[in-house]
Amino acid sequence: MPELPEVETVRRGLDPVMTGQVIVQAQVNRPDLRWPLPLRMAERLTGQRVERLRRRSKYILADLSSGETLLIHLGMSGRMLVSGAPLAQFHHDHPAPQKHDHVVLTMANGARITFNDARRFGAMDLIDTEMADRHPLLAGIGPEPFGNDFDETRLVARLKGRATPIKSALLDQRTVAGLGNIYVCETLFRAGVHPARRAGDLPSSGVAGLVPIIRQVLTEAIAAGGSSLRDYRQSDGELGYFQHRFHVYGREGAPCQTPGCAGTVTRIVQSGRSSFFCPVCQT
Ligand SMILES: [Zn+2]
Repeated sequence: MPELPEVETVRRGLDPVMTGQVIVQAQVNRPDLRWPLPLRMAERLTGQRVERLRRRSKYILADLSSGETLLIHLGMSGRMLVSGAPLAQFHHDHPAPQKHDHVVLTMANGARITFNDARRFGAMDLIDTEMADRHPLLAGIGPEPFGNDFDETRLVARLKGRATPIKSALLDQRTVAGLGNIYVCETLFRAGVHPARRAGDLPSSGVAGLVPIIRQVLTEAIAAGGSSLRDYRQSDGELGYFQHRFHVYGREGAPCQTPGCAGTVTRIVQSGRSSFFCPVCQT
């Protein structure tokens, strides 16, 4: 499932081919993804220029010249493919249409953007740009991890007295937007905090220290995504999925990578999701 760095990588991949470009053709091949697609979607997209391509949490938002915003959520298995773009980093010919190509946008510059989603957990919607923040999918979301609203003072206040495990508190999208299972595991490893630790039991200094660590973990992952974008010449034009080395995530049974630590990466299940951690480094 794509997390914030993957979604940001997709956004950065789409930006040079979409921003400032008019959508000359919108092909909508079915009435719904996870939810019904907006009414007259193709008509409302056609002829509109993409003024800005931004990200909020794990959602990509394309602000259009019509005053509407196209909201895109990749869901579990949604994929964005770019083909035929005139820019140097994309040399792909338009591929033959594939099963599960649900929405295909052709831009004035010749780029074709295909949204393919076999499991259809993804979503798209068209909303008033001015009202976008109030969309049901966005309204309850907490501060962006790189935004000014996410800071040490507010995180300390939010976690104070909380009996919930720190892992769950950080996965809660009201705490910080876009942080998912992988990067919470990596954050807690780097912070030396056991994932089952009660959030309210952490010292304020420990909670405050999570802010720069979260930013660092996400920054490194976004950088890895950026490197993957530069390799598209050899790839199939799919955006967003890249190899990234994790310290604990998915490494159950492997030796801890902290120099001098003899611990073994361990997996436990919390709220139905796997937590990976080093029981020696993380207390
Ligand atoms: Zn360790």
